[in-house]
Amino acid sequence: MINADLIIKNAIIITLNSKFDIIENGSIVIKDTDIIAIGKTEDIEKQFVAHKKICADNKIVMPGLVNTHNHLSMTMFRGLADDIELQAWLNKYMFPAEAKFVTEETVKLGAEIAMVEMLHAGTTTFNDMYYYEEQVAEVAKKIGMRGIVAESFIDFPVPNSATPDVTEKHTRYLYEKYKNDPLITVGVAVHAPYTCSEELLKRGAKLAEQLDINYHIHIAETKWEYDLIKKKHNLTPVEYLDKLGVLNENVVSAHSVWLDDQDIDIYARRKVGVAHNPECNMKLASGVAPIPKMIDKQIKVGLGTDGAASNNNLNMFAEMQVMALIHKLWNKNTTVIPARTALRIATLGSAEVLRLDKKIGSLETGKKADIIMLDISKANTIPIYDYYSAIVYAFNAAHVTDVIINGQEVMRNDIILNIDEKDIKNKMNDLARKISTAIKIVSSQ
Ligand SMILES: [Zn+2]
Repeated sequence: MINADLIIKNAIIITLNSKFDIIENGSIVIKDTDIIAIGKTEDIEKQFVAHKKICADNKIVMPGLVNTHNHLSMTMFRGLADDIELQAWLNKYMFPAEAKFVTEETVKLGAEIAMVEMLHAGTTTFNDMYYYEEQVAEVAKKIGMRGIVAESFIDFPVPNSATPDVTEKHTRYLYEKYKNDPLITVGVAVHAPYTCSEELLKRGAKLAEQLDINYHIHIAETKWEYDLIKKKHNLTPVEYLDKLGVLNENVVSAHSVWLDDQDIDIYARRKVGVAHNPECNMKLASGVAPIPKMIDKQIKVGLGTDGAASNNNLNMFAEMQVMALIHKLWNKNTTVIPARTALRIATLGSAEVLRLDKKIGSLETGKKADIIMLDISKANTIPIYDYYSAIVYAFNAAHVTDVIINGQEVMRNDIILNIDEKDIKNKMNDLARKISTAIKIVSSQ
């Protein structure tokens, strides 16, 4: 018999492996951080013993969801300014609110609330772009969550960085600090083609290439951006970035809504990865990204929520469902983004975009044990004829009961183990009272 640390038994295992195997009455064997075996419970029990067992009767066990685009600490601005146009939202509300309230302490608190929300909704990995990212990384390590952190390069002074020189120095510091970390990866974040100069866009790309890390950027989010770049350079945003030489396989392109067929060809040629954010694009009326066309061209597509200030949640189950629905409506075609494709995009597809697919995104021997469990006993998911359909169209965040990341239990029976949820919720409500008195709140009347 082979000794292991943990066996999850009697589960319905949705592997998301290349054959899309589903194993009923299945078991997953975990040693240290890795999945070392996966198969029928009766076979696993003949070969493996572990000092800890989790009985997953009545549970679906699947890979954790991977959120490819986020600004975690913007949870502090959730609902601060809704139902207004993107440029006004950014310039009148978000940038001033950030200048006044983004500090090391508030970034930490925002990240804590964000991670609590994400874990309850089955997300095990995030890709963040913001400020004071060392705080985000430290919260993730404390809670046990996997993430990519990146300090934002932008053409004006930001809370923790007066100049791009400081941002670059800080990115290099973070890279050195976390380069061997089991949970944290460091990236470069360059805000967008309309907030960064040519020099800054290229500088970020050079740094990302030199350190072989991801280049996280918002591209072609709105018609406003598309028209601005077209007017200035007589090129689409994608053509412009390609001309600067910044597009390649380490690019994680958030949004990518305003792409024509030539732009999609450029993405395919340069192997750019896309972080699709349908809820944010709907809420800010940005448009619908041509995701089915990208999939046809074998472009890497992942899913993200964007920050809570423009969504207003970090719930990947909701995002997955909206993705599967919006493209059907937009294309007047019920066969577009079927449930299995939607689930693959939210897990392995997202891991491919983040270049973490060798480690995570599916349940397979040799991969890290990033696993979530879903309760199948609630009325709103019964009966189940097709597991993919059930997960995408019927399940939601409330069905997530347990989360394991890197082989460690992080949430058990809906309780997050390494953080005092009540305390951080109280602190966030205190902070929100200060923000609301300082910033005039806007919402639809
Ligand atoms: Zn964003």
